[in-house]
Amino acid sequence: MSRVYNFSAGPSMLPLEVLKKAQEEMCEYASSGMSVMEMSHRSKDYQEIIDGCEALVRELMHVPDNYKVLFLQGGGSSQFTMIPMNLASKNKKCDIVITGQWAKKAMQEAKRYITVNEVASSADRTFAYIPKLDKSKFSKDADYFYICMNNTIYGTKYYELPDTGDVPLVADISSMVMSEEIDVSKFGLLFAGAQKNLGPAGVTLVIVREDLIGNAMDITPTMFNYQIHADNKSLYNTPPTYSIYIMKLVLEWIKDKGGVAAVQKANEKKAEILYSYLDSSKLFKGTVDKADRSLMNVPFVTGTEELDAKFVAEAKKAGLVNLKGHRTVGGMRASIYNAMPVEGVEKLVEFMKKFEAENI
Ligand SMILES: *Cc1c(COP(=O)(O)O)cnc(C)c1O
Repeated sequence: MSRVYNFSAGPSMLPLEVLKKAQEEMCEYASSGMSVMEMSHRSKDYQEIIDGCEALVRELMHVPDNYKVLFLQGGGSSQFTMIPMNLASKNKKCDIVITGQWAKKAMQEAKRYITVNEVASSADRTFAYIPKLDKSKFSKDADYFYICMNNTIYGTKYYELPDTGDVPLVADISSMVMSEEIDVSKFGLLFAGAQKNLGPAGVTLVIVREDLIGNAMDITPTMFNYQIHADNKSLYNTPPTYSIYIMKLVLEWIKDKGGVAAVQKANEKKAEILYSYLDSSKLFKGTVDKADRSLMNVPFVTGTEELDAKFVAEAKKAGLVNLKGHRTVGGMRASIYNAMPVEGVEKLVEFMKKFEAENI
């Protein structure tokens, strides 16, 4: 077998154990005599899969009982619409911090329906940091306060959450879900597209406090109404059945590893290996302020486009793939999600050292 170390930002690596288990069960799931892909979403076998997946989300993230766990479609991007439509029917207003493209997209979409107050932005330095927040700029009457907690493209993350008082905090955790412990009770709503840390594309995890649903705007399409999906336990219509099944296998894998706290330890170790090399290198340089560095997405540069391109090409030949930075940023980016083993990061640093010695 010649599997590579895949540093893609998403869709990204899945644990090999998960892929093998899926392979084993591909044609016949348990005693059903059929593939999960061929199964009715109303069958007993499938009900066990989706219930099991929800139970694992609740267990691994310590989700309080007054939160709904939903499996939706439309990617993380549909949440940019669903959140204002469902959470902002009262004052039609939200606060937002702009820390990159995903927050910007959430703002643009929210602006179609409600008033959006930009509390702060780190656009002045290409989103290389998380801005300090001035509480006097928070709106007292905002229906929610929105952040993108880990910035996949720029490689920053919040280490301290904004203190929003009674205003529900909403966070896009697409690229950090289950990579570290999060206190769900501090949030009104959390969401994550699965394709970074939870499974294949096609399913989006939404965790929402019960009192925040049931007040959608009149214009809200049925499929965009959290209440509909909560009332029907994510089975209002056909859910992305196979993606949810794989997510369940990934969650079982996280549980086997010792849960989110254990996975976090491994992630901190991986990030430390890469960042400490970047800090000592004479060729490569991390692009993010040290205090705000993501554990999941690590952007870096050599200083010249030619060397960047040469590095990406040579790394690929060495089995270290998808290291090219986002098309809007350039340089390199190593995404080191849960499924990336420590050895993958060690191999990358070894390769970077060799490249540095040959090119400086
Ligand atoms: C990838 C990503 C998205 C978009 O997800 P889609 O499922 O492609 O819509 C949104 N937010 C963040 C932080 C992401 O990393």
